[in-house]
Amino acid sequence: EERRRAKQRVQEARTRDGHLLSLFVNAEDTETIARARRNGAAGVGLFRTEFLFLRQRELPSEEEQFKVYRDAVIAMAGKPVTFRTLDLGADKAFGGPLEVAREENPALGLRGIRLSLQRKHLFIAQLRAILRASGFGPIRILLPMISAIEEVREARALIEETMADLRRARVPLAEQIPLGVMIEVPAAALISNELARYAEFFAIGSNDLAQYVLAADRNNSQVSLAYDPMHPAFVRLLYLVADSARQAKRPLSVCGEIAGDPRYTPLLIALGISDFSMHLNAINDVRDAAAKLSRKQLRGRLARVLHAGDREELQSALKLLS
Ligand code: PEP
Ligand code: MG
Repeated sequence: EERRRAKQRVQEARTRDGHLLSLFVNAEDTETIARARRNGAAGVGLFRTEFLFLRQRELPSEEEQFKVYRDAVIAMAGKPVTFRTLDLGADKAFGGPLEVAREENPALGLRGIRLSLQRKHLFIAQLRAILRASGFGPIRILLPMISAIEEVREARALIEETMADLRRARVPLAEQIPLGVMIEVPAAALISNELARYAEFFAIGSNDLAQYVLAADRNNSQVSLAYDPMHPAFVRLLYLVADSARQAKRPLSVCGEIAGDPRYTPLLIALGISDFSMHLNAINDVRDAAAKLSRKQLRGRLARVLHAGDREELQSALKLLS
């Protein structure tokens, strides 16, 4: 017991001045989740459900999905699992059984929630599987590629109808299932204060948000210089979202690559962000980086961070006095 407690203390993430950070894991399989649980993760901040679809050529049935989601919930043993609904399309193309027409600009095309709302049978089968898993432990539902409030409303209505159907069939479900939105399209970031009225939590998808703000493909090495999250425009947009979440008292996490990259930990802490979701292997590095940082000092740099005009000014605003 003593050893277990000592281990847990080690696994807590705190800044040097004692501010508690919650480190969640990004996962798409049960083994990772079981390891994350042992590693002290606060929960699964992003379960990328589309991987279940990308691993095989056929559409997984409701039953197949249910088993995977249920096992994930059981493996997390009481900590929340955040199921992101299907985010197919763009870099995660799944042609075959979905018969999506070829697109000239897939990143700006039928992806994420847009596809789910257009293929309702597919979406409802997935929702049923996710909701059924809620009978086994705490879950949250997260909607990808949201760009307008109408999409959240429509998705919520479908979730509520699906819950009512399952309840009528006496399927045990959780009482509370928070619904959140990914903030990964600039439009969503800009209306985040309004979105807060329709969503219980936010998860910033910094990979896509940076791609769309900077007009630079996240996977194109030719434009990797332009794809720079240390860009003042991107940083200001992150702050706008963090501020909306704070004012509306909505939990906010960052779940793109920058959340698991210790080079960005000072920036995110300066912006007032305390919840991070990352690859399991990054947890130790971010925990160690945070332990060396004074949140108070970083928060004191906020004005300079927000007024920086280029990467260099940003970096110097974040440089620590130690
Ligand atoms: C993101 O866009 O930052 C994100 C977490 O989602 P994905 O990388 O799966 O698109
Ligand atoms: Mg994304």
